[in-house]
Amino acid sequence: MTGEVGRRLSSLSRSVEGHVVLVTGAGSGIGRATAHLFADEGARVAVTDLDAASADDVAAEVTATGGDARAWALDVTDAAAVQEVVTEVAAWGGVLDVLVNNAGAAAGHPIDHDDFEETWDLGIDLLLTSLTRTIRAALPHLRQAAAGRIVNISSTEGVGGSANMAAYTAAKHGVIGLTRSLAVELGESGITVNAVCPGPIHTGITSAIPEEMKVKFARRAVPVRRYGEPEEIAHGILHLALPASSYITGHALLVDGGMTIKNN
Ligand code: NAP
Repeated sequence: MTGEVGRRLSSLSRSVEGHVVLVTGAGSGIGRATAHLFADEGARVAVTDLDAASADDVAAEVTATGGDARAWALDVTDAAAVQEVVTEVAAWGGVLDVLVNNAGAAAGHPIDHDDFEETWDLGIDLLLTSLTRTIRAALPHLRQAAAGRIVNISSTEGVGGSANMAAYTAAKHGVIGLTRSLAVELGESGITVNAVCPGPIHTGITSAIPEEMKVKFARRAVPVRRYGEPEEIAHGILHLALPASSYITGHALLVDGGMTIKNN
């Protein structure tokens, strides 16, 4: 006991300084906030998005505030482009430490809608299958990293369900299943695989919902009584990406203002 007095309990790093981080869908919302937060913490950020101009804008914002970022146009549903961009990012960074699978869009129709099958296929491809593409492309590089981290963005729709959103809800449940399976599969490699489940957040996806409906919904359904902000999700992502989070794997972190656990 005496010998332990004054000894540091842990030397695990709580910093991502110098780490190379690839964020998909980083041109807006949660991805943009994640790019900013990691850059603020000294990481080198690959800002990727479907829309080249949005990715360019975010990378420019980050560099204007002293951060290190570079933009890539990347459609995560395009397997060849994913492979190409991940390779370029790893060459740019010298390594790839963190992959944040964030890109997404709303996807849903009532089950008997004429377009159901088309929406289902597109939704599952974008919100679930695309994650296997980025992970497969990134894996050889993550294996070289000292503390490889994969953070997949699911949703409270990954643990519950809403009407007319079957593709989205099924995909987000699938993201948690994928996360858990890969956490077990990759455990020995030191790469952790976790999910973040945002509740209702002010971003592009929710921008069409009138503000008064958001306020009403949040007062009824969310214990903290408001929509969340993108940076509140980014903080959850950063936590899971820290070298010190080395014993957290296969977890689905709810960042939802308490919405999921509310009974009344
Ligand atoms: P957002 O502001 O719309 O951001 C999503 C980003 O993904 C956009 O920049 C979008 O680009 C991009 N994207 C869409 N399709 C893409 C593709 N095929 N390849 C690459 N990028 C693509 O919405 P967000 O809320 O931040 O969404 C981020 C993640 O959080 C999504 O996975 C979403 O499902 C999840 N989420 C959000 C909430 C919420 O309430 N906001 C709740 C739970 C989970 P374009 O704008 O050019 O289409």
